[in-house]
Amino acid sequence: MMDSTLADRIKEAVAAGFDEQVRFTSDLTALPSLRGREAPAQDVMARAYRAAGLAVDRFKVELDDIRHLPGFSPVAVSYDDAWNVVGAHRAPDPRGRSLILNGHIDVVPTGPVELWSAPPFQPHVEGDWLYGRGGGDMKAGLVAALYAFKALRGLGLTPAADIYLQSVIEEECTGNGALACLARGYRAEAAVIPEPMGEALARAQVGVMWFQVKLRGRPVHVAVAGTGANAIEAAYPLMSALHKLEARWNAEKHPAFAGLEHPLNLVVSRIEGGDWTSSVPAWCTFDVRCGLYPGSDLGAIRREIEDCVRQAAQANPYLANTPPEIVYHGFQAEGYVLQDADAQVAALDRSHRAVTGQPLQQKTLTGTTDARFFGLYAGIPGLVYGPQAESIHGYDERVSLSSTLRVTQAIALFIADWCGVEAA
Ligand SMILES: [Zn+2]
Repeated sequence: MMDSTLADRIKEAVAAGFDEQVRFTSDLTALPSLRGREAPAQDVMARAYRAAGLAVDRFKVELDDIRHLPGFSPVAVSYDDAWNVVGAHRAPDPRGRSLILNGHIDVVPTGPVELWSAPPFQPHVEGDWLYGRGGGDMKAGLVAALYAFKALRGLGLTPAADIYLQSVIEEECTGNGALACLARGYRAEAAVIPEPMGEALARAQVGVMWFQVKLRGRPVHVAVAGTGANAIEAAYPLMSALHKLEARWNAEKHPAFAGLEHPLNLVVSRIEGGDWTSSVPAWCTFDVRCGLYPGSDLGAIRREIEDCVRQAAQANPYLANTPPEIVYHGFQAEGYVLQDADAQVAALDRSHRAVTGQPLQQKTLTGTTDARFFGLYAGIPGLVYGPQAESIHGYDERVSLSSTLRVTQAIALFIADWCGVEAA
C-alpha cells in the first residue's frame, strides 16, 4: 500500500478535477447513445482518451470476429456503425499488475419523455444529483475511470503497468462489445467496471436470457370472432405458464443468492400484434427477459422454456396445431460469481476504505454486467464497483455526484495500488 501522503495527494487531485469531470459527464449524457447511435459518443470518448495521453484503438465490432466465441449473443440488428474505443497506457518497463477499466456507452430507451420531469437528454444538476438518461448507467462510472487516470497524470505520476480504458457498446442487450475487446486480445490481471453499485462490490450476478414468442392466429371479422383464433388473447396463458416456470426456478436456491427472496426475474417486456381493430388478430409477438443462476446450462434453460410454452399451447385448439415459435436474440448471458480474486478485492477494499473510512460491502446483482466476459472467458476477475444511482432504466434517472467523486478517488487509489505509480 502507498503511504498516506500519496493517497491524500491523489484524492485531492481527483477533487480538484471534479468540476470538469461533472461537465464532461453531463456533456456525454446529453448524447443519446441509444442502440445503433453510439458512434458520436464513442468519438467523444476517443478524443478524451487521446487528450489524456492514451493510445487510442477505435474499432468496429465485427460479428465474424466474435460469433464463434463463448458468451456471444445473437443479434437481429446491423453492426455497421458499432464502434468500440480502447485507450491504452503501455508502461515502458512494467513492474506492477495490469488493469482493465471497462464501461459501457450504450443507454436504454427513455420511455414516454413527457413522464420525465426534464428532458432525458438535457442533463441537469439538482443538489447532489446529475439527472439524465444514461448518467447513472453508466456514463458517470465510465468517465470516473478516465478522470481517475487523469488525476494521476496531473500529479506527474504514471502507472507502472499497462492499463486499458475501454468504452464499449452493447452492454444493455448482448455484451458483444466487451466480447469484441476480448477477441481483439485485450487482457489484464484485473478488470474494474464502475457500474452503479452504490459503492459496493458485486459478488455475483445472475445470467440473463432474452427470447421472443411468436404466435399465429386465424383472422376473421370480429362479427364472427368465434370462428377465428385470437393470437393476442392466446398469449396470456403462455405468459402465465412462463411465470410458473419462473416460480419453480426461484424455489431452487443458489448459494450465491441465498439472501434474496426472488433473484430470478422473468418479465414480458414488449408485445406487438394484430393489424386492425375489427379483425381477430392473426399474429402476436412478445419479448421476454428472464434471469438464470450461475452454472445453469443455457441449452437446458432453453429446453425448459420451449417445453413450458409447448405444453401451455396444447390447451389452445388452434395453437396445438400451430405451435408458437421461439426465437433467441439478445442476451444469452451466463451468470457469474466473483472468485479467485482475493488480491483484487483486497486492493479495492484498501482503496475504498482510504476514501470512505468504511469496509467494502458486497452485493449480489439480479441483473447482468459485462464482468462475466472477463471472469468466465478470460480468467480475469471482473470487479463491478461504482457510484450510487437511482431510477436507472426508469424516469428521472440520476447519479449522486458526491458518490461519483468518492468512486473516482477510490479508482485512482486502486490504480496506484494495483499497478503502482512512478514519476512520469
Ligand atoms: Zn450498466
